[in-house]
Amino acid sequence: MNVVIIGEKRMGLDPYSIKKDFPIFSHTDIIYLDNAATTHKPRVVVEAIKRFYEEYNANIHRGLHELSQKASEAYENAHEVLSKFINARDWREVVFTRNTTEGINLVAYSWGLRNLKPDDEIVTTIMDHHSNLIPWYLVSKNTGAKLKLVRIRNDGTLDYQHFESLLSDKTRLVAVTMMSNVLGTIVDVRYLARKAHSVDALILVDGAQSVPHMPVDVRELEIDFLAFSGHKMLGPTGIGVLWGRKDLLEEMEPFLGGGDMIRAVHWREGKIEAIWNNLPWKFEAGTPHIAGGIGLAEAARYLQKIGLDEIRNHEKKLTKYALKRLSELGEKIQVYGPLDPEKRGGIISFNLSKLNPHVTATLLDSYRIAVRSGFHCAQPLHEYLGLKEGSVRASFYLYNTFEEIDKLFKALNEISENFP
Ligand code: PMP
Repeated sequence: MNVVIIGEKRMGLDPYSIKKDFPIFSHTDIIYLDNAATTHKPRVVVEAIKRFYEEYNANIHRGLHELSQKASEAYENAHEVLSKFINARDWREVVFTRNTTEGINLVAYSWGLRNLKPDDEIVTTIMDHHSNLIPWYLVSKNTGAKLKLVRIRNDGTLDYQHFESLLSDKTRLVAVTMMSNVLGTIVDVRYLARKAHSVDALILVDGAQSVPHMPVDVRELEIDFLAFSGHKMLGPTGIGVLWGRKDLLEEMEPFLGGGDMIRAVHWREGKIEAIWNNLPWKFEAGTPHIAGGIGLAEAARYLQKIGLDEIRNHEKKLTKYALKRLSELGEKIQVYGPLDPEKRGGIISFNLSKLNPHVTATLLDSYRIAVRSGFHCAQPLHEYLGLKEGSVRASFYLYNTFEEIDKLFKALNEISENFP
């Protein structure tokens, strides 16, 4: 039982019993606070992948034999599971990619390069990850479209007024993260979607940090594209999702060419004639990561069983507690991002005064606490905040406990006393 129920009252999830579902925690006592980089895998995910390779390994869509049919069915079903996970209208709107980065690049190349012109504008934000900045930078270099960045306010929330001032009838796309991987800031994507649509622009959401940690409903948010990664939501590496509105995906040209994305190819009068396959296969060229898709579907099922609301609540409590404990370090620590746990997810970046973030992370490692240090692929944000050496980032997930936060606090306290 992963959710504790006392009488009628739900007491939230129990991270101690959840930990038992993850084989890695019986192999190591490391306090793992690097979940924004990647997450651990529950036994059910590892076993689903193992079952595929041991019991029905075959290529999909290419064989009439039993194994191929079984593999195809499981892989297609994985699209269905992921489409339900984000409440898509149709499983064909779910394209499996390698990760968030590839999903965003798919839209940049297939939609951006073909549709944008020199007078057009793309709006993104200063706190977006390089994977939602660089593809648009490349598109702007190649099309002449202008890239505009929304600022953040002093409290680490998005400057919605600045966003509105950047929006105009020249805006063709708003590309925005739903949760900053540095500040934890949650962005009101539904509001941005309505504003974007009011000027006939599209909105692409980077869901790498939000989809694993809170309910994300593409219909309720009224967005056009959503990209996220399997490995940040208990699934395997090498698999991710690009969800897109069907009408948009249907109009778009393929990103990669090859097998499976094509229905027919003819050589007629010295020319190739090609007819694209149906969605989502039009965007899944070549043999895909079949085991990855199957593993990701199992991860989504596991998360749904626990409940995304429960997970969000647990992380909110952890974040509130961590912010309180870290504030006990007073002047010795600078914590970035909103102070209100309602406005942020379970990602806390900080610096211990005068200590280089890599030194802090290395010292924390000697306490067997895993965190990340550096720019976290968000260098413009760090420069904007005046953090030349980056920051230290602790990020939580469903298996983290209050006890682990106490240990983080104790270690930071000792480090700050030894390196005043
Ligand atoms: N966007 C955000 C907000 C992220 O945190 C990350 C991963 N750090 C990415 C995009 C890129 O994810 P991936 O490396 O899985 O493509």
